[in-house]
Amino acid sequence: MSLIETEAIVLKQFDLGEADKIITFYTLDEGKIRAVVKKARNSKNNKISAVVLPYCYNYIKVYKNNSLDRINNVDSIHRFEELRNNLDKMAYASYFSEMVEKAGMEYHPNQPLFKLLLTTFYKMARGSKKELNKINIVFKLLFLKYIGVQPRINFCYECGKKHKTLKKQHFNVQEGGLICSNCVRARNSDFDILKQKQVDLIKRVYRAGIDSLDGLNVAEDLLNSIDKLIDKFILYHLDFKLKSEDFLQIIKGLDEN
Ligand SMILES: [Zn+2]
Repeated sequence: MSLIETEAIVLKQFDLGEADKIITFYTLDEGKIRAVVKKARNSKNNKISAVVLPYCYNYIKVYKNNSLDRINNVDSIHRFEELRNNLDKMAYASYFSEMVEKAGMEYHPNQPLFKLLLTTFYKMARGSKKELNKINIVFKLLFLKYIGVQPRINFCYECGKKHKTLKKQHFNVQEGGLICSNCVRARNSDFDILKQKQVDLIKRVYRAGIDSLDGLNVAEDLLNSIDKLIDKFILYHLDFKLKSEDFLQIIKGLDEN
């Protein structure tokens, strides 16, 4: 049996038996961890049940076992109540958590992915509802980068030449990126046509990272068009079926009505 101590974000939880909970964490040093918290639902143990809610950011001690790992201690760093008290923020937080839960591997750390989720939660907690769409785009693009399937937008996937600025760019989801105007003539594939300003926005996110769109005024339809493309990319390359996606679509739909 070994003891692990690390920063951790609660991705999800469910009840086990009469009094216990199974928590899935994403941790800084160990990647994904699933562990049991004994008596988490005991009324005398309210302290611990309040800090193992989804999105809570903690410092945890886990006993690594041959069977099920066990949480020994949880110290709260930030509970992210802001995300649970707001339906829009909660919808996005669930969606991001589920993506990390799907892509994250147990006992296989990915520190950039951990930091992305944590920083995104802080940005959402502080930010207004209007900013969620921007945060969503930045999260998803960087998520793809950190799990190793970043769309190729700087060089043609066919000939490898650097892309020139063009009115229209051809993006192929299956090939995972942009093709240049020379190569596209010889190809009959299914292309998404991107405007240069869409390409520029994606480039900006990859160049400047998590803070890339802070304070930047981006039209909603530009964000929505990029969002659709990223979702198509994620579906093709990762084949994710996310439970939280339906909830997110309902929440988005409420705004449009
Ligand atoms: Zn080319």
